Amino acid sequence: MDDFHYQNDELCCERVPVAKIAQKVGTPFYLYSYNTLRRHFRVFDEAFRTVPHITCFALKANSNISVLRTFIREGGGVDIVSGGELYRALKAGADPQKIVYSGVGKRIDEIEFALSSNILLFNVESAQELETIDAVATRMKKKAGIALRVNPDVDPQTHPHISTGLKENKFGVDMKKAREKYGRAKRLRSVDIKGISCHIGSQVTKITPFVDALGRLKKLIALLRKDGISIRYVDLGGGLGITYKNEVPPHPVEYAEAVIKSAEELDCTFIFEPGRVIVGNAGILMTKVLYTKSSADKNFIIVDAGMNDLIRPSLYNSYHRIQPVMGNGRKEINADIVGPICESGDYLAKGRTVPAFERGELMAVMSAGAYGFTMSSNYNSRPRVPEVLVNGGRFYVIRRREDYRDLTRGENIPSFLKVRR
Ligand SMILES: *Cc1c(COP(=O)(O)O)cnc(C)c1O
Repeated sequence: MDDFHYQNDELCCERVPVAKIAQKVGTPFYLYSYNTLRRHFRVFDEAFRTVPHITCFALKANSNISVLRTFIREGGGVDIVSGGELYRALKAGADPQKIVYSGVGKRIDEIEFALSSNILLFNVESAQELETIDAVATRMKKKAGIALRVNPDVDPQTHPHISTGLKENKFGVDMKKAREKYGRAKRLRSVDIKGISCHIGSQVTKITPFVDALGRLKKLIALLRKDGISIRYVDLGGGLGITYKNEVPPHPVEYAEAVIKSAEELDCTFIFEPGRVIVGNAGILMTKVLYTKSSADKNFIIVDAGMNDLIRPSLYNSYHRIQPVMGNGRKEINADIVGPICESGDYLAKGRTVPAFERGELMAVMSAGAYGFTMSSNYNSRPRVPEVLVNGGRFYVIRRREDYRDLTRGENIPSFLKVRR
């Protein structure tokens, strides 16, 4: 996070005081550091430099095309989960042969779009999806590269909502049935089996779940190769965690050290799908205090950003550090930081010890670069906030603030409701 730092007691992003940006674009807004984004990508990607690999950034964590372009220019690929994400990836200039398509519910039109774009592979999540991809590819006279996403049934020891590799989760196909499914895939006409994949969950802060998952994959790969199925790509998914509060997640280099030996043994190209670890701590949400109020035993700080802008606290009870833009070391109070949305679940922090923020003051919600803007909505008819990118001493609005007209764009009043005069 060193690109978000205090200079003369004033919060800056790289060399720009964040207050200066707030003055120009208003609040709330998302703020990303270009140099942090690029550094995080490089640290991850270079950790695997000794083995053939593709680092496919998980677009759902942060889908702004300027952010994507940052990684694409570093040689990165993209992990997508929808046709809309494919559109964004291509718009940002991604190499289709570095695009992998994950997700449990791919529609036919999305499969067609991916095939006509010549993506590297589909991470297939069920037998029916496999048959559908084969049928669509046959009709289009194409070969569909595929990997089966297996469910290794390891516990990533993370929040239940973001754990995906347990057998009760909806993702992937059962390890035990995978061999038989590969056998079926081999007989399909328009499917090219390229590899195997898994993704065990998100915000994983230990190495062992990844190592366990890879161990199980290796056993399966050995069996598949015996069956004459060539596995050339091993996709380990994403999920590496970050520090929000006091977690101590493994460094990408530690993660690499734990899996590289297997990579060499397997003689495959590794695919990684990191999202949060690249962008999470490269962005913050800037907001402003509208009002403060106290009841008998509670202090509330009401800010102009709500759960529609950053839903993670409401959805997962996640922790985001709250920092003032100026005046650290002031008297502190215990308060709930709440938004303007008409829901009791609308909060950014609960029962938090924070500086005694004053009305009109700016506030930084830290570690908001992943699953921040991408999960935002227009709930309560609030226009979505702008995204700003800082590079060195300059800042760029990479997505403008929505206005009221954006809110009703696409809506129509049917003739029977038209006003008669
Ligand atoms: C969400 C997701 C990722 C990215 O997860 P992070 O925890 O952000 O690294 C990668 N792969 C798949 C299939 C996903 O669903």
